[in-house]
Amino acid sequence: MKVAVWHNNRDIRLEEVPRPKPGPKEMLIKVVSCGICGSDIVEWYRLPRAPLVQGHEIGAEVVEVGESVTSYEPGDRVFVAPKVPCLDCHYCREGHYPVCPNVKVRLPGGFAEFILVPEVLVDKGTYRLPEALSYDQGTFIEPLACVVRAQSLAGIKKGQTLLIMGCGMSGLLHVKLAKSKGCRVFATDLNQARLDLAKKNGADWILDASGEVSERLMTENGRKADVIILCTSALSAVAQAWKCIDKGGAIVFFAVPGPEKPVTVPLNDLWMQEIRILTSYYCGPPDIVEAMALLKTGTIEVEDMITHRLPLRDIARGFQLAIDGRESIKVIIKPSEG
Ligand SMILES: [Zn+2]
Ligand SMILES: [Zn+2]
Repeated sequence: MKVAVWHNNRDIRLEEVPRPKPGPKEMLIKVVSCGICGSDIVEWYRLPRAPLVQGHEIGAEVVEVGESVTSYEPGDRVFVAPKVPCLDCHYCREGHYPVCPNVKVRLPGGFAEFILVPEVLVDKGTYRLPEALSYDQGTFIEPLACVVRAQSLAGIKKGQTLLIMGCGMSGLLHVKLAKSKGCRVFATDLNQARLDLAKKNGADWILDASGEVSERLMTENGRKADVIILCTSALSAVAQAWKCIDKGGAIVFFAVPGPEKPVTVPLNDLWMQEIRILTSYYCGPPDIVEAMALLKTGTIEVEDMITHRLPLRDIARGFQLAIDGRESIKVIIKPSEG
């Protein structure tokens, strides 16, 4: 079978490897769709594990199950989480699933024709795709689950004013989810095409990030934002966030600038205003369940975000499209189509 081995963003090699045979408690799935995630192209984050087969936003079909697997059978349409928390440790019991220290097994990457699903992920990480969801739509389960988690950590409520900074894939999902909750949504980006998309996807106001965002916010909203979600690694956005947050508000780092770009927090200015600074990374099982429900019911529609579908042999181009970001929102790789 073919796999795409990622060495860095400019060096992704298609390789032929033996198709794995599932053990008694494992199963083999055929990858029908696998999304390129914004985090797949972040080299400082991915390089420590390179070379590796990336891809964790999967829509797949079960093709072979081990003799002891009774929950799934060939033909089942599934999403498999890239890893699962133990649900039993201190952190899991506190709901901090993404930091569970007992995660030992990861799903092999989805930029491959087939994936061998390890036992723990057959048991706890596999979800049947609802009838209403296509394989392509299934690739949004994981990214939407991360968005669900960030908004629930921030305690987002109806009527609040949200400022979403960065209108790539995750920024747009944040816009859609916040609108479904009845929030007033401002969105910023430097790219006009992305701003137009944010508007189309429900943002009430779109603001050019190179302008005076805090002034525009005051003019249109009468006060600053209750919650700011950073979906860009731009330091300029972080600097704007400190100026745009209202008293009692929360700033959520959904994306971070990266290790070479230290951030100075104006703590003295924030101190008397009860402003929270949060981070949100990955998702947990309850977020996955909620994301699936949002997609299944059509509360969050994702079809219009898919801009490219490419066979595995074009994965290098897919990465370039995702990195460039001017004409792509969601790039989906279709490994079973060659
Ligand atoms: Zn992702
Ligand atoms: Zn745990």
